Amino acid sequence: MSRGRLTAAESAEAFRRLEAEMPGRTATAKGPKDQPDPFRSVVACMLSAQSRDANTALATERLFALADTPDAMLLLGEAAIARAIKPCGLYNMKARNIVRLCGDLTQRLDRNVPATREGLMALPGVGRKCADIVLSFTYGQDVIAVDTHVFRVANRLGLTEARTADETARQLERDAPGFARRDGHFWLIQFGKAVCTARRPQCETCFLADLCRWFAATRGDGEPA
Ligand code: SF4
Repeated sequence: MSRGRLTAAESAEAFRRLEAEMPGRTATAKGPKDQPDPFRSVVACMLSAQSRDANTALATERLFALADTPDAMLLLGEAAIARAIKPCGLYNMKARNIVRLCGDLTQRLDRNVPATREGLMALPGVGRKCADIVLSFTYGQDVIAVDTHVFRVANRLGLTEARTADETARQLERDAPGFARRDGHFWLIQFGKAVCTARRPQCETCFLADLCRWFAATRGDGEPA
């Protein structure tokens, strides 16, 4: 059943409180993929799909020790890529997509990873979440990338009312106040890890409880959204 969304004024108030309480983007803040160039950033992002951070980090390290450019990756070949990235799961599909991505970059894009969402999402194996992470962290654009924490918090609180991460991203892009676009991703992730956790959200002491649609509907006792 729909719990409803925050009004524009309530949404702005929620983001203002998040800004006051949660750390934002800092010079030392590492992007989720912390890679030094757009190519490695987009590949690391592909490897992270349905993988724990530690497994993604291991797969990424193993792969980039063998090849870290599109040409070197094509020389390495799909079977060797799959072996290197085995820790992150779905490795056959991911290896296939990496080879297709490198083919696209070398043949169509002069080895340049696009700096637009449309361009990124046209690449094999790159979805909205991955595109937004690359735009935000690698290209420094004001984009609220939606990971599992941002998805959970935005939809519990009522910043969005969406069933998927992509729809959540579209609603945030359309409706989030301007001041929240640069650091909103960071505020929501930190809040999701510290307060609005997946299993035990701390509703009783939450500084957003008076605004929260999930809390209003369940008084914090319902099944987590
Ligand atoms: S009141 Fe509870 S569900 Fe709502 S934002 Fe706070 S911790 Fe999350």
